[in-house]
Amino acid sequence: MKQTVAEKITAVGEMKRSHYSMIINGERVESVSGNMFETYDPAKGEVIATIAKATIEDAEKAVQAARNSFDNGKWRKYPVGKRARVLNKIAAIMRSRFNELCELEVLNSGKSIGAAQVQINQAIEDFEFYAGAIVGHRGKVNNMPNGFFNYTHKEPVGVCAQIIPWNYPMMMAAWKIAPAIAAGCSVVVKPASLTPITAIILNEICHEAGVPEGVVNTVPGAGQVVGDYLVTHKDVNKVAFTGSTPTGRDIMEKASSTLKRLTLELGGKSPSIVFEDADMEAAVAGSLFGIFFNTGQSCEARSRLFVHEAIYDEFMEQFVSRTKKLKLGDPFDKGTHLGSIISRSQLEKIDAYVQSAIADGATVLTGGKEIKIEGFENGYWYEPTIIADVTPDMKVVQEEIFGPVVVVEKFTDEREVIKRANDTEYGLGSAVWTTNQARATRVAHQIQAGIVMINSPFSAFPGTPFGGYKQSGFGRELTVETLDLYMEDKSVLSYYGPKPINPFGV
Ligand code: NAP
Ligand code: MG
Repeated sequence: MKQTVAEKITAVGEMKRSHYSMIINGERVESVSGNMFETYDPAKGEVIATIAKATIEDAEKAVQAARNSFDNGKWRKYPVGKRARVLNKIAAIMRSRFNELCELEVLNSGKSIGAAQVQINQAIEDFEFYAGAIVGHRGKVNNMPNGFFNYTHKEPVGVCAQIIPWNYPMMMAAWKIAPAIAAGCSVVVKPASLTPITAIILNEICHEAGVPEGVVNTVPGAGQVVGDYLVTHKDVNKVAFTGSTPTGRDIMEKASSTLKRLTLELGGKSPSIVFEDADMEAAVAGSLFGIFFNTGQSCEARSRLFVHEAIYDEFMEQFVSRTKKLKLGDPFDKGTHLGSIISRSQLEKIDAYVQSAIADGATVLTGGKEIKIEGFENGYWYEPTIIADVTPDMKVVQEEIFGPVVVVEKFTDEREVIKRANDTEYGLGSAVWTTNQARATRVAHQIQAGIVMINSPFSAFPGTPFGGYKQSGFGRELTVETLDLYMEDKSVLSYYGPKPINPFGV
């Protein structure tokens, strides 16, 4: 008897393992090369499991599995309601194993349990959102001259390579996989080498829920090998990437050789502007969350804070004293606010930025160094850091640090602060704190960023577009229109007129 995909995967089973295989064509497989790599708990600096390490040969198998499932398989031909039911089932399985997923995410990323819960919950809601969104996502009928009829038929774009960063391992995988498979695409997922576990588990859950073999494949392996191979592969139709701007640039260049569809979700240096009429409590609490959530390792981290001179002293007094109260420690402790940094090299990068600011003449108001946490002495921990007395040309003001470090600047008027907020190559997030609605709207419309948060610590929910201006990339995720980035609009034009048309007249 033919095994179902769920049987081949033997359902997900125990999630916490000492070894994780890759997933190709609905099966757990090892690398053809036999290669493996170790993955860490960065909070403790300890190896937690080995991972099958994909080579180009493995990536090729994954692409062919995806290609075959797309060209000859049934997924894209399912009635849309049937695909939606499977997406809802993925969400239901995730929900039923919520605590285990959160635990794995914390173990492999060092983030606090609170942050993991928010992110896994959103990953679940993404599948639910796209299950609903795809059902109503139809082509259009267009008004045509007499006898003609035109409609657009939405078709999945094909095989998609989806390259995932380490900061939100499962949520980013969900942001990518959910709209792609809702649209009927087949995907090859390349998780970040630092955090491969939950993407592998998500692939297994997809199969347990009924996604046919080959529709979702996951190949952990080096970005510069496996990622590069996927990006240049002629059988891959689209690349969706989240990560750093330099890697995004490299991918864009390489994807041009085969004119792939491309979505790039890149870095940021998001400004947050606190006006003199802001609700002080909301602005302070929101600014703490805006930079220190996920230990500052967020693409939309509000890492440049502009505070009006009239309230600067009062704001800073509260902001600094409350930053000192933030708790770093056991990521599984519900009271922990900040987990660890993802790796030793990321920690060193963060510290180098702080040292450069000091050398440039800036003042560290709090934090500014590595910290040893009891019981986690070999992990990678950095103090939440506030830097003042900066100038616009400093590296720490211009470049994405991707850690718990915020620079604070004083401003005097609205026009000036908008100009300074926009003085960056990035354009992902931004925040405005004011009780004046007219000002909020006026400023929001002048900021060059894909997202403006007005009096809100949160940047996105399923259904709100997420994506950047300028060198923060292009394309929007998390929203209905994302489906169009995984689909082609085919124009079907017919003539049903009474008489044959003879345009040449011969
Ligand atoms: P990265 O190089 O952009 O990596 C992101 C993903 O792309 C990973 O899966 C990576 O694989 C893969 N990749 C790397 N090089 C590739 C290539 N040449 N072709 C195709 N795929 C490739 O980011 P990172 O090196 O992990 O972090 C560096 C910096 O990027 C951070 O310090 C931070 O500033 C920024 N960052 C931004 C975001 C964001 O959401 N905007 C997320 C993560 C990092 P490997 O893991 O195997 O290298
Ligand atoms: Mg890199």
